[in-house]
Amino acid sequence: MEDVKKMSYTETLMSWERPDLRVGIPVTVKYPLVPTEKPPEYRGKPHIDPNVCIGCGACVQACPANALTAEWDFESGLKSIVSNPARCIRCGRCQEACPTGAMKLTLEFELATPNKEDLVEVVEHHLTKCKKCGKYTEFTERQVKKALQILPKEIIEARALEEKMQLCRECRMEESVKALATQEHVIGDPSLLPPERTKGGKE
Ligand code: SF4
Ligand code: SF4
Repeated sequence: MEDVKKMSYTETLMSWERPDLRVGIPVTVKYPLVPTEKPPEYRGKPHIDPNVCIGCGACVQACPANALTAEWDFESGLKSIVSNPARCIRCGRCQEACPTGAMKLTLEFELATPNKEDLVEVVEHHLTKCKKCGKYTEFTERQVKKALQILPKEIIEARALEEKMQLCRECRMEESVKALATQEHVIGDPSLLPPERTKGGKE
């Protein structure tokens, strides 16, 4: 009996097959008069730590229930990550996808409210400005900083990510078209190709 008292309610139920524990198992609990115990792995209301979130939107992409959304305001230069726990199905995919550990499913489950909007959490992020045209980009300041910190240097250099992340979508496209045009020009003009190609050299 001493062992039963030390175990949580869930653990006690999990041990139901043990005959020595069948005596004295509580069949009812006093919740809500007495707070109920949750196992540490319980999936409750999702919460975003605003100090750790970088606004990357990986959680939004992973959410199958549309409980997480991303909104951009290019006038004021803000990106918002909006969490609506009323839509959440507690699958935990957002927590798995989050690269910074900002997104966590808490042990909180008592969400009854007369107004579902009260449950909504919004985390706002500042967007970076395009180095070329000065408009806001779709990237957050923290997102750019983190990406340049964690991505391998070779990838950043090979794909010119540092330059690209400082441009807005339109300017990036413009630069890509320019680069492509230059490439086509080189390919179309034999005099600009390496000698071994123009002279039938080996690959
Ligand atoms: S737990 Fe699942 S449904 Fe809930 S916010 Fe995260 S990804 Fe969306
Ligand atoms: S995945 Fe994590 S860091 Fe990225 S927006 Fe969601 S909570 Fe923030």
